[in-house]
Amino acid sequence: MAHHRGPRHDLMPLSEKRRLAKDRRQLHHDADVVIVGAGILGCALAVALGNQGRSVLLLERSLKEPDRIVGELLQPGGVAALEKLGLRDCLEEIDAVKVFGYDVIYFGEEVRISYPANALHDGGEIEGDEKSHTDEMRGTKRKRPEGRSFHHGRFIQRLRQKAMEKENVEVVEATATELVRSEYNGQIVGVEATVKGEKDCFFGGLTIIADGYASKFRKEFREDAPVVRSKFWGLELIDAKLPMPNHGHVILGDGAPVLLYQIGTHETRALVDVPDNVPSASIANGGVKGHLKNVVLPSLPAEVRPSFEAAIDRDRLRSMPNSWLPPTTNKQPGLVILGDAMNMRHPLTGGGMTVAFNDAVMFSELLSPTNVPMLDDTDLVLKQMRAFHWQRKGLSSVINILAQALYSLFAADDSQLKALQMGCFHYFKLGGNCIDGPVGLLAGIIRQPFVLFYHFFAVALYAMWIYIMTGSPLLIPVRMLSSVGVFAKACVVIFPYIFSELRT
Ligand SMILES: Cc1cc2nc3c(=O)[nH]c(=O)nc-3n(C[C@H](O)[C@H](O)[C@H](O)COP(=O)(O)OP(=O)(O)OC[C@H]3O[C@@H](n4cnc5c(N)ncnc54)[C@H](O)[C@@H]3O)c2cc1C
Repeated sequence: MAHHRGPRHDLMPLSEKRRLAKDRRQLHHDADVVIVGAGILGCALAVALGNQGRSVLLLERSLKEPDRIVGELLQPGGVAALEKLGLRDCLEEIDAVKVFGYDVIYFGEEVRISYPANALHDGGEIEGDEKSHTDEMRGTKRKRPEGRSFHHGRFIQRLRQKAMEKENVEVVEATATELVRSEYNGQIVGVEATVKGEKDCFFGGLTIIADGYASKFRKEFREDAPVVRSKFWGLELIDAKLPMPNHGHVILGDGAPVLLYQIGTHETRALVDVPDNVPSASIANGGVKGHLKNVVLPSLPAEVRPSFEAAIDRDRLRSMPNSWLPPTTNKQPGLVILGDAMNMRHPLTGGGMTVAFNDAVMFSELLSPTNVPMLDDTDLVLKQMRAFHWQRKGLSSVINILAQALYSLFAADDSQLKALQMGCFHYFKLGGNCIDGPVGLLAGIIRQPFVLFYHFFAVALYAMWIYIMTGSPLLIPVRMLSSVGVFAKACVVIFPYIFSELRT
């Protein structure tokens, strides 16, 4: 039901409308939209809605530069979305590093995976700087898209600065504590928050919750909780020698995967996946520090080991849960939950920010003033949110399913998964479309779920073939029979994630 707060000012000059909206925000804490959380999604959305002339209150519990081990590699599909939002220059002046693709190292054997050349994106070519990199390896002049990696905190501060510079966005250091409901119809009309130790309220025609992975508010609106099978432990390596600079590194072996990527001229992030209850990280074995020294360090490329070992001795060990949370539709009048608060996938493929920026683009288009003149028109907002839930899947379900399925293969802990892992690596080694397809999906460039299923099952069949052909020829008939188990395992890996994307 549309419920218009305040007088209609249709005939008023724009400058006067803006002044009144500013007064309403600053004096009465009342805006078209209240956003909780000035993280990746919250900042991007505040700017996008602000650009459309909406009056925005953006609440953030701490405006200090965050020091986190998350959100440090932005895929090309995320860079393109950032550009659409007019925020691309947030990647400047933060010592960001260009990323041209990945280097996958499997038991010491390497395969280089470049982002695909001249990839199509939303029916058009990736624009701007991303086209500038030539593919030296193949000796051609084909243009390739680029990602960026950086210190998360520096990037966030640039995004927040952009939000603060917008005339109709008010950024407030405030910790949201409760949702405020209309006594009349139960609709959410804003949030209660603590500002400098005092209780305060902020009102909006629409309240957007973007409070991240540990969201305080989502629990009220869904029964399921994020599923966590492992944690990423982060180290910062200084002047690390990487096998392939300007590439993300994925190191695969007997244990769970390790990621390495530069986040500045001198700094490299190492993220080590440690599954729950892994014996080598038990207290008796020296805890996580023991696991890093005894298991992970020897598995790394020799040139990386000195800086990795120095970081173990120097750094405070920090971890983050690697969560899986399938998306759901927002059904509560007056409220929308977005970002990690609504949908998470394993960070192995570095897809979270790409999903968030693309969501900000799509959300602001679906809820533009042309489509939804008043954001307190809850029926219309809920209708557009149903469209949002399905339309975002071209990108988000690809990134969600790929991250989860790839993690199952890369953290293989049984013989069938190990066969799939080996098949996957050898599939990449075939090159051509066997690289361009998977990395195009991961990069947020290819947005067609069927391309993902095609490559996933191609990997499964290739893994079966390698499994059958490896070892004594006499045992080929036996291995043919047991290879069915490898294929069945591939189905067990992927189908639950496909089904989770089909729910409303
Ligand atoms: C280990 C790890 C590594 C990752 N690496 C990458 C990567 O390389 N690339 C990538 O694309 N993605 C990565 N991600 C995912 C990415 O970080 C997230 O998807 C992204 O940050 C989500 O953005 P968000 O705005 O939803 O949440 P956040 O960016 O976490 O922002 C939430 C904001 O809300 C604020 N907040 C929380 N509660 C309140 C409250 N009550 N009141 C006011 N403010 C509040 C917080 O302070 C924070 O600023 C990684 C995730 C993990 C766990």
